[in-house]
Amino acid sequence: MDFHADYVMTIDGKAVPGEATMDVVNPATGEPFATAPDCSKAQLDAAVAAAKTAFKTWRRTPIAERQAMVAKAGDLLLVHADEMARLFTREQGRPVEAAKQEIQGAGMWMKAVAQMTPPVHVSEDSATQFIETRYVPLGVVCAIAPWNFPVNLAMWKVAPALVAGNTMVLKPSPYTPLCTLKIGQLFADVFPPGVFNVISGGDDLGPMMTSHSGFAKISFTGSTATGKRVMESAAKDLKRVTLELGGNDAAIVLPDVDLDAVAQKIFFGAFFNSAQICVATKRLYVHEDVYDGLRDRLAAIAGAVKMGDGAEQGTVLGPIQNKRQYDRVMDLLEDAKANHLTLIQGAAIPDNGGYFVPVTIVDNPPEDSRVVQEEAFGPILPMLKFSDIDDVIDRANASDYGLAGAVWSADTDKAVAIARRMETGTVWVNQNLNLRPDTPFAGHKQSGAGIENGMEGLLEYMSPQVVYLAR
Ligand code: NAD
Repeated sequence: MDFHADYVMTIDGKAVPGEATMDVVNPATGEPFATAPDCSKAQLDAAVAAAKTAFKTWRRTPIAERQAMVAKAGDLLLVHADEMARLFTREQGRPVEAAKQEIQGAGMWMKAVAQMTPPVHVSEDSATQFIETRYVPLGVVCAIAPWNFPVNLAMWKVAPALVAGNTMVLKPSPYTPLCTLKIGQLFADVFPPGVFNVISGGDDLGPMMTSHSGFAKISFTGSTATGKRVMESAAKDLKRVTLELGGNDAAIVLPDVDLDAVAQKIFFGAFFNSAQICVATKRLYVHEDVYDGLRDRLAAIAGAVKMGDGAEQGTVLGPIQNKRQYDRVMDLLEDAKANHLTLIQGAAIPDNGGYFVPVTIVDNPPEDSRVVQEEAFGPILPMLKFSDIDDVIDRANASDYGLAGAVWSADTDKAVAIARRMETGTVWVNQNLNLRPDTPFAGHKQSGAGIENGMEGLLEYMSPQVVYLAR
């Protein structure tokens, strides 16, 4: 397969070009380098119809066969990770080695999910009756993915949905469609026609999908604002929804930490992927006794880390993925400057039309400043001082978001006690960004609705069915 040309959709197992096309831009240059199909309403209808027809057979295919095919699809990602990584870097911006890790990680993830089997519960097995609850698939799943981890976050949906016996129409972000389109073609050799369809398109396609009556469920990852629109649209015919949305994650650093041991970890927990991670540290609360020491260490790392085109050797951080997000992040930076906040900026950035924003640490801004209150989703990290534990927990929890958080301390009992008081679905102690296929991931408050991953995530693609048998 040529990963650098011929981007087509996969509908009913066939390669389908767009009736129209859209440009795909390399964020490291700001220049278009490829075109992707812009799916029409008729093509969406065809994909949903194919998935509906395929569902009839797929739901009755033994789960062991479905699991084997999902595992095989995962293997294909492992086999092609090297070639696909260069395409990933061109469309997404992340350096090639880290791009490859995402693709390999997605392959491993699929293989792990392929080992999961939904439970069967027997409530009664007596002389008079037998009562059994098992789980059945829902139908056609509409999967909508974002641009920050385009392969991984899409496969988080594909694997459980298909293992559960659903069929799917997947739509990548208009900013990062290409790897996903190629995955559609790769997987056409694995799944029966219609089981897994991939379409791409512009801003109109998402709402066209979420309002389409052919879908039984929507699995969405993206911003909280869009997630609310998705839920509204799903209400019309009570489609099931899983929403994985934004976050403004707080990390709390206690005074007993070994600064030299934690500084790198805290830095990359905030800035990996140029901070375009839903669960990145976005507010860093540091005890006043170690504040200056940690700030100086983070500043030194920021000064040494190369930001540039991910295709170049030695690049550690790439650009912001798209112009719209770049403008948002720059607006936040301008606001910080206009309010005379103290900014510590990292290494120089390329001046070439790419969407680069230098690593920026905001030195103890007021709690109510925009950089603290808003999800930056770009390399601007507010660092804030605290002296009292109860106060800092209140500040960390004072957010409409509740995705993840972290606590750093040499006293793990104390740290775990603080972690348990954080109002988030995931909390890390002395680590961060660690997620697993067998462990539930669920945003609290406005960071989401429903669960991905773990058995709980698999069951979100199913409904219980109870059979009562009289004896
Ligand atoms: P976005 O909401 O702009 O777009 C996400 C997807 O939704 C894209 O495919 C887009 O085309 C589609 N879309 C846009 N409008 C739509 C509509 N009205 N109806 C249906 N679909 C529509 O999000 P983004 O900018 O791509 O991603 C960044 C955001 O995603 C951040 O807020 C980040 O925190 C969040 N995110 C969350 C998680 C998580 O698991 N909780 C993971 C990654 C990113």
